[in-house]
Amino acid sequence: MHPDVQSLLAVQVDDVELYGLEDRLASLAPRIAALEKERGKVAGQLDRARASIAAEETRHREVQVRVDANKALVERSQRAYESVTSPKEANAAIVQLEQTKRMVDDSERDAQQVQGRINELRHHVADLESSLADVENRQSATRAELDTERKAIEGEIATAQAKRDNTAKAVPRAMLSKYDRVRLRKRTESVFPLRGASCSACDTAIPTQRRASMAATGALEMCEGCGVLLYAGE
Ligand SMILES: [Zn+2]
Repeated sequence: MHPDVQSLLAVQVDDVELYGLEDRLASLAPRIAALEKERGKVAGQLDRARASIAAEETRHREVQVRVDANKALVERSQRAYESVTSPKEANAAIVQLEQTKRMVDDSERDAQQVQGRINELRHHVADLESSLADVENRQSATRAELDTERKAIEGEIATAQAKRDNTAKAVPRAMLSKYDRVRLRKRTESVFPLRGASCSACDTAIPTQRRASMAATGALEMCEGCGVLLYAGE
């Protein structure tokens, strides 16, 4: 085997190890996403409940303005009633006074209803807050584990990458870039020996002339059957 090919195979070993580490790192993502989704569900409900409270509080302030305005009308009607000078005026003033009192009652009832909804929502928010705290507590150990795992894998990747970079120094630049082009597409083992007259990955036969030049120069040839790079073995 040509020494350049031997060096390249060493690089490939390092790369396959790196792919394994990268896959392990990537496999953490869905686990983190699942935790996020579980927490996000409760957090979303909490946000919506808080927004509902804010909306009801706005409505409550509006109704309260109406209550105050109606009470002012009652006072005015009361004064009008107290200053009547004839029975006819008194009748009209009483009708007016009763009508404004009903308006106060109606608006106060509205305000109470809104306040009732606010109280219910506050209970709901308190429940959701404790559910969220439960979820976060329950998740904290798993999150810490995942974080530790992630840091460990990232450390291993940095080490493996440095090793790979060092191994790659022994490979001629042109050969390495040819290999990298195939490797980045396949993200797996991509350099294979000839087996007899064929590609050992897919059994496609390689013409005699190409095999002879591979053996003589150590050059890599791409298999037309499966796209891997082939080298002449022993
Ligand atoms: Zn092949």
